[in-house]
Amino acid sequence: MTEWSKRTKAVHAGTRRSQYGEISEAMFLTQAFAYPTAEAAEARFIEAGEDEFIYARYGNPTNRMFEDRLAMLEGTEDAFACTSGMAAVNGALMALTQAGDHVVSSRALFGSCLYVLEEVLGRFGVDITLVDGTDNAAWDAAIRPDTKLVFLEAISNPTLEVIDLAHVVKVAHASDALVVVDNAMPTPVFSYAAKLGADLVVYSTTKHVDGQGRMLGGAICGSRDLIRGPIETYMKHTGGAINPFAAWTHLKALETLDLRVRAQADSTMQVAEALAGHAKLSRLSYPQHPSHPQHAVAMEQSPSGGTVLAIEVKGGKEACFRFLNALEIFTISNNFADAKSIATHPATTTHQRLPQDQKDTLGISDGLVRLSIGLEDPEDLIRDLKQALAAV
Ligand SMILES: *Cc1c(COP(=O)(O)O)cnc(C)c1O
Repeated sequence: MTEWSKRTKAVHAGTRRSQYGEISEAMFLTQAFAYPTAEAAEARFIEAGEDEFIYARYGNPTNRMFEDRLAMLEGTEDAFACTSGMAAVNGALMALTQAGDHVVSSRALFGSCLYVLEEVLGRFGVDITLVDGTDNAAWDAAIRPDTKLVFLEAISNPTLEVIDLAHVVKVAHASDALVVVDNAMPTPVFSYAAKLGADLVVYSTTKHVDGQGRMLGGAICGSRDLIRGPIETYMKHTGGAINPFAAWTHLKALETLDLRVRAQADSTMQVAEALAGHAKLSRLSYPQHPSHPQHAVAMEQSPSGGTVLAIEVKGGKEACFRFLNALEIFTISNNFADAKSIATHPATTTHQRLPQDQKDTLGISDGLVRLSIGLEDPEDLIRDLKQALAAV
């Protein structure tokens, strides 16, 4: 199975069949599991075997299929599936740090990740240093011999900054620090995190894995020692395990992940090429486009720039809102990685609460729009974007 390509693994890896021999993976909606004897119950609590489950908060056959399939795609030994991407981020960080520890993180983070690092870990006495993730020298300066953990978003949201992961891993591992990568943007299809040495790869499976805007989910992928050690222990006792219905939805969605994400990424590159240099735009950010400041390192790490790009409409908020309101196919929303294309205005929605100086540092201007490219015909999307820009 290890030599299967990702497309084959995405369809078959981790399948477990019940005694009925069903083709489509079964959804086990059960809270607990029955034991034939008191001795069997005792034995399972001493050590549960591969196909033995105790309680849905600890594990479930549907969840396990999803975890095994996702781990196989990522190229890690194991995975733990969580209620949401944030449950996964929180779990990974809380399970592995304690008071007095030092953590280094890139500054350009999803807002809730920043909250967990600064507010939650900070409250428990973890010392956080934030750096400009695109600056290798900043990582070199911030990571100390006593640094416990390094956290980063491989490609940041919403401005699509790319981090030189091999460099960060090298510096972190020289201090025996664990590297935790929030990998929503690269997707499991184009992921390079585990290959480049990340210790834990965290997904919001809400995004490309579900891919159709339905259910929240998340996962932490990594070595068996970490996943079935501190991660599982923390998650099972604090209630972060994914609901089997969501696990089943995401498991089935993995079957089409490769096809969907490749099609969306191809369309995103076409949109980037069509909009680059447009007279109404002051900026376009897409890692695969040669104009991206980290284009070389992005392409060294991954063959694709992913399914999201950012543009900056000239003329500030007013012009930008005129553009957004003129879109006919794109939906105005705060999500991304849906089959339906989505336009987001981070400054007034997802990043509204950030102080202005932080918005400036992160490049979140009043004209910035994040475009998530869906499964529609890219020619239609380009026409829609151009007619909306013409309305500005
Ligand atoms: C969406 C997202 C999350 C949070 O995921 P949820 O499933 O919404 O909890 C975390 N990190 C990144 C980078 C994300 O894009």
